Amino acid sequence: MASTLTDRLSRLVKTMRGQARITEDNVQDMLREVRMALLEADVALPVVRDFVARVKEKALGAEVVGSLSPGQALVGIVHKELAATMGEGIADINLAAQPPAIILMAGLQGAGKTTTTAKLAKHLIEKRKKKVLTVSADVYRPAAIEQLKTVTAQAGAEWFPSAPDQKPHDIALAAVDHARRHFFDVLLVDTAGRLAIDEALMAEIRDLHATLKPVETLFVVDAMQGQDAINTAKAFKEALPLTGIVLTKLDGDSRGGAALSVRQITGAPIKFAGVSEKIDGLEVFDAERHAGRVLGMGDIVALVEEVQKGVDVEAAQKLAEKLKSGDGFDLNDFLAQISQMKKMGGLSGLMDKLPTQMTAKAGAADMDKAERDMKRMEGILNAMTAKERRQPSLLMDGKSKASRKRRIAAGAGVQIQEVNRLLNQFDQMQGMMKKMKGGGLMKMMKKLGG
Ligand code: GDP
Repeated sequence: MASTLTDRLSRLVKTMRGQARITEDNVQDMLREVRMALLEADVALPVVRDFVARVKEKALGAEVVGSLSPGQALVGIVHKELAATMGEGIADINLAAQPPAIILMAGLQGAGKTTTTAKLAKHLIEKRKKKVLTVSADVYRPAAIEQLKTVTAQAGAEWFPSAPDQKPHDIALAAVDHARRHFFDVLLVDTAGRLAIDEALMAEIRDLHATLKPVETLFVVDAMQGQDAINTAKAFKEALPLTGIVLTKLDGDSRGGAALSVRQITGAPIKFAGVSEKIDGLEVFDAERHAGRVLGMGDIVALVEEVQKGVDVEAAQKLAEKLKSGDGFDLNDFLAQISQMKKMGGLSGLMDKLPTQMTAKAGAADMDKAERDMKRMEGILNAMTAKERRQPSLLMDGKSKASRKRRIAAGAGVQIQEVNRLLNQFDQMQGMMKKMKGGGLMKMMKKLGG
């Protein structure tokens, strides 16, 4: 991933430092970055335009409160708007209907409708303990009916037969009748898709909708469609009152911008995400958590809130710069680093908010140990004088190093060996910082964990 929104925005906060107000001028630079980041994530252009306009309006009207700089305030506004656009919280499937609760699946051919129908059946059986029946109204492709039969069996649900010589309307009525008489809780109706939108297809699914009166009409859309997703979404929204979206193939290498586009165009919440070809590759979509991840920016909303809670952003940034260059990094910085992390909820709190791919390697046990070590280190660093922290050489090769270390160990209530260990780690860290550029937090934590 080239340049994430996070990178772009943090660069911007830096350039905006020292400016007192959000103005037409300085907001333009930021909006340009936001626009670029969203386009890179494959969000459709009209959606990007709308989003940027909303942010601009909110930013210009916003008061910059307390100790926030305009840059920080703007970042907060962008994140809030992004989260709101993606939807808030979890939009679960609605089954509140006289059984059977009917779920109509709509979408283009190849979007993943049939696969998703079976995945959803499995989800409803396992997570909601429902008795589920599936049926295919795709009378144009006998193979599609067979495919649904196969995947329904894999899901452990029941399949209602249909045939190419029947009318979709009749299939639907027969399936509902069967579901009622056999006490099914849910009936999932897979429909025909075409390779592109066409009027006959839309008329057919409108008719099916009127016949079935489904409690959920789910629009299944391929995340890899990127910019094209918007046209498909528009056509389906005009034809049907969509109640939810399933975004498939999020495991592919799309940047996931389709999520934002489709959500905004249809106004319907994203309820599920397809994350593999397998029958269990369906996840309940948690907009707040996924919004950031989808765009490769971590759970930045939460992170910004933490930042606003009391972490000194400027100090953190200065530190980050020092960390990058390795120049002049002293024990005060080491201490500052630890207290910043504590303010942000400790290492594990921080890790939760970063993109999963960065944190997957850190096990919970490692994390606990790292947190404990961090606390001890903080104690040792606090037992040093400010001068010692500024000039670590006093403790490493100064004449009085032995007596200094004895005093520090006594003050922190630890053995001298622990003081030595910390100084060793600091020494290694200083060396390492010169070598690493970005993405170094994990490496650093490994060292902290000893
Ligand atoms: P339909 O024409 O809309 O019914 O689409 P299908 O259900 O036949 O799916 C089309 C292709 O996409 C199949 O090869 C599926 O295995 C694949 N597919 C569906 N959902 C996902 C997903 O979430 N991830 C991946 N990687 N592939 C998927």
